[in-house]
Amino acid sequence: MSRVIYFDNNATTQVAPEVFEAMKPFLTELYGNPSSMHTFGGQVEHYIRSSRESVAKLIGCDSSEIIFTSCGTESDNAAIKGVLAAYPEKKKIITTRVEHPAVLAPCRELQGLGYKVVELGVDKDGQINLDELKAEVDDDTAIVTIMYANNETGVIFQIDKIAEIVKSKDVVFHTDAVQAVGKIPLNLDKSNIDLLSLSGHKLHAPKGVGVLYIKKGTRISPFIIGGHQERGRRAGTENVAGIVALGKAAELAIEYMEEENTKVKKLRDKLENALLKSCKDAKLNGDKINRLPNTTNISFEFIEGEAILLLLNQFGICASSGSACTSGALEPSHVMRAMGVPFTAAHGSTRFSLSRYNTEEEVDFVIEKMPLIVNRLRELSPFVK
Ligand code: PLP
Repeated sequence: MSRVIYFDNNATTQVAPEVFEAMKPFLTELYGNPSSMHTFGGQVEHYIRSSRESVAKLIGCDSSEIIFTSCGTESDNAAIKGVLAAYPEKKKIITTRVEHPAVLAPCRELQGLGYKVVELGVDKDGQINLDELKAEVDDDTAIVTIMYANNETGVIFQIDKIAEIVKSKDVVFHTDAVQAVGKIPLNLDKSNIDLLSLSGHKLHAPKGVGVLYIKKGTRISPFIIGGHQERGRRAGTENVAGIVALGKAAELAIEYMEEENTKVKKLRDKLENALLKSCKDAKLNGDKINRLPNTTNISFEFIEGEAILLLLNQFGICASSGSACTSGALEPSHVMRAMGVPFTAAHGSTRFSLSRYNTEEEVDFVIEKMPLIVNRLRELSPFVK
């Protein structure tokens, strides 16, 4: 395959070479079942334990609070549905309009089953209003689920303040931190977060492994039942190779955290500043300050994000737009709509998300190509006079 410039790291990431090396033995010679009585299987348990400790270190909690799952989506579903099952008398869920479908879809399904679901709106920067949240949390609320950082814009929510409000009302707080973990430092021991989801493939581990953090003492029923794996909290034979990979990825994330917030951020800023300057009618979407260091979301007004992606693709550049193809028509992203981004700009929103594997040369290449793409599409646009 010809050269690929991968600026779509919020969609998924490259498996780190060290991670691949660490997981290999568990796909070859060390294939035993960690639950087996014999030494051959049982020896694998030790590696799971060590991986649990590495993940706990990354997010600042005790290893007994880490439950391995199959992905971020499972962790989100398990948190929401598990808490509702543990509090059968409570019928209200509070979330936001800008969550990932992994949270929005189960909430909407539950709404169909009779639960009251409140989706808080956001302002133009993508932030919720804390007073609105405070007013909504009541005795009937079983769970509040609000993402740590948004996947499309990178906007980081005021999670400490949010968790404090929710805790003061004695309600369970879950955060989907799939985009935050590995990119910004977290310390759950010092927080009021009860439940947190993360996903391996967003931090240079492979797809198919995730975590649900459950703070000690949190009331939650298991989502997947069967065997007694994960101390009865998540049944199913462990994805040993995936778990070992995630442990290694967590160690690397700790090692590279500083770089993520300096080198990667600098590359992101260079790209963003150049595109906002060189492309006419380009605007940044979301809070400029409270943002993941690797993400920029820019609207190129009057043109389609999909058209931009296709032309970028011709140069081997991978980026993303939040638009979804529903019933044959392109719908602007629900995140852009919730932020009140005008229709003509929401359609042209494009996300570039970087990682530690990106280089300045790649950024320069995109800076060179993007104005050409935008100008070419503007010439074809029916919206430009
Ligand atoms: N939550 C957020 C914020 C995400 O960005 C994603 C994936 O893009 C998910 C949840 C789902 O994670 P997974 O792909 O591991 O199911």
